[in-house]
Amino acid sequence: MPVDLHLHSSVSDGTDTPTQLVDKAAAAGLDTIALTDHDTMDGIAEARARAADVGVRLIPGIELSVTYDGTKMHMLVYFTEPGTEDLEVMLEGLRRGRLRRNERILERLTAQGYDITPEDVSMWARGPSVGRPHIADALVHKGYFATRDEVFKDVLRDGGSAYVRRTGLTARDAISKARDVGAVTVIAHPITIGKPEGGYEAMYRELADLGLGGIEAHHPLHSLELRAHLEHLAGSIGLVATGGSDYHGTGKRDYRIGVGRGDLRVPASAVDEIEAKRFT
Ligand code: AMP
Ligand code: FE
Ligand code: FE
Ligand code: ZN
Repeated sequence: MPVDLHLHSSVSDGTDTPTQLVDKAAAAGLDTIALTDHDTMDGIAEARARAADVGVRLIPGIELSVTYDGTKMHMLVYFTEPGTEDLEVMLEGLRRGRLRRNERILERLTAQGYDITPEDVSMWARGPSVGRPHIADALVHKGYFATRDEVFKDVLRDGGSAYVRRTGLTARDAISKARDVGAVTVIAHPITIGKPEGGYEAMYRELADLGLGGIEAHHPLHSLELRAHLEHLAGSIGLVATGGSDYHGTGKRDYRIGVGRGDLRVPASAVDEIEAKRFT
């Protein structure tokens, strides 16, 4: 049965509510899904309730932005329980960091002549996790750009004229925090990571020793060759090769639920394998 372990709802930067997301997953014939909103678990209760109604298995998760020796990466965390105090406090801190960063991004945009206020941005955020995608939505709404994607190619791209770095967690801290709460970490879409000094494999091995559970081999940004390579590499290190569509609704137009750009196939066995990593 098809599975999809990387989905975003409108609680972060997707455009479907958790209920709509689960309904679309069911309609797509998916058996197991993970909700992985950026820096918030606020969509999980709703998604879980709907999933129970429609007979889909829902794995609660989040996606974090972390650093590894100066390189940025995204980390998926599975089996995160809303209400876990340690985790909620950490996420609250990360979201506050986002808000401070958003203010600095708006200062830059204003200095460059864009008319944009915090209120313009909050109009587009339907949950507590507010970031660049919502600033992009506001710029599109105001007529400065045609799509989110255009903004991310221009002023808001990493290193772009209004870009501000986020200060966040390290990969090591994220893994350790996840272990403390019985969750499992997976490195998201590895193609987006700049090559670390010691090379990719050394990084995976070091993080695996610290408790990393897997690598997201199956992602729409990866070529079929890269998916196969990462699956093999994960296996050789004892990591699970997971995958998902990174569906954001109309927030990323060409990623479809369950199938990505059409050729995504996430092995169903990844679900049990990643769950088995929970207590190791
Ligand atoms: P932030 O977390 O505020 O740094 O924003 C990064 C998020 O923006 C990513 O996790 C993506 O979900 C989203 N994003 C990045 N590139 C694009 C794009 N080209 N189009 C739409 N959303 C994007
Ligand atoms: Fe996103
Ligand atoms: Fe990501
Ligand atoms: Zn994502």
